[in-house]
Amino acid sequence: MGYKKEYYIKALADIAKRRLTADETAKNNLLSVYLAHPDIKELDDKMNELGLLAVKSAVKLSGADEIINLKSEYEKIDNNKQELLIKYNVSASSLKPNYYCNKCNDTGYVDGELCECVKKIAKEYYFNDLCEKMPLESSRFDSFDLSLYPDDAQSNMQEIYNFSKEYADNFSTASKNLFFLGRTGLGKTHLSLSIANIAIDKGFGVIYGSSQNFFNQIQDEAFGRKQGDTLNALLDCDLLILDDFGTEFMSTYISSAIYNIINSRILRSLPTIISTNLSLSEINSQYGERIMSRILGNYAIKQFTGKDIRQIQMLKNNT
Ligand SMILES: [Zn+2]
Repeated sequence: MGYKKEYYIKALADIAKRRLTADETAKNNLLSVYLAHPDIKELDDKMNELGLLAVKSAVKLSGADEIINLKSEYEKIDNNKQELLIKYNVSASSLKPNYYCNKCNDTGYVDGELCECVKKIAKEYYFNDLCEKMPLESSRFDSFDLSLYPDDAQSNMQEIYNFSKEYADNFSTASKNLFFLGRTGLGKTHLSLSIANIAIDKGFGVIYGSSQNFFNQIQDEAFGRKQGDTLNALLDCDLLILDDFGTEFMSTYISSAIYNIINSRILRSLPTIISTNLSLSEINSQYGERIMSRILGNYAIKQFTGKDIRQIQMLKNNT
């Protein structure tokens, strides 16, 4: 899919920075080697001189023999230099720029075409813009407090926690779809975002946000009220997290967009995590059998239990 120009401009700026950093590091490494070992600088100067002479000979018609001589002299000096580097324990590769992308050497282009690395960064910027301001940073597995759950919910929540942690650790685009059911404040968003954090760290393209906002946005874009390509982004991302499913303002268009996203992602084997405050029977009456059967047949369903953790947490913080 294509992204807005601004994302590519930002991506190319990032790549230019990478290249600059790699070049500067190599240059600084070389300068410190010159400082410590002036004999290496001498050899480099000689090789540069020979290079210039070779260029001059090349423009002369009679220069062929000269070039051969210059070349063998150059190679001799280069061999000396390599020996010295070994003697001084200097790694030759540290003197060359260590580019992040070995396809384009951080230029952003391969054969005049944008390199994959630029597209990858542009995509990340786009996904970031789509993701809502949800507490991603603070939602990690280690900040999930199982002790806040009442005794009768402990073992179930421990099981869901372990399952989610394992899911995140082994996440790939072949991972299962998950359906988190349960009342508000039972940690569904926290665990979904904990999974998102790990998937993002692994380099996957993750989009997360409230179902209501995404589908409003998709509808506004479809009817020309807003610009964007949210539908395709939600269809294509490696992991889609739809929070608060069931809060959408239902219209014929939104209902078919929901089915389209759920069904297409199943067909493409791309994982989706849905969380909802509704019960399965409420889902059935709100969305109908078509959506319900896709969910039942293709999602691992986890029922969250306990009391509102946010309330317990707030009370705990206030005492
Ligand atoms: Zn590249």
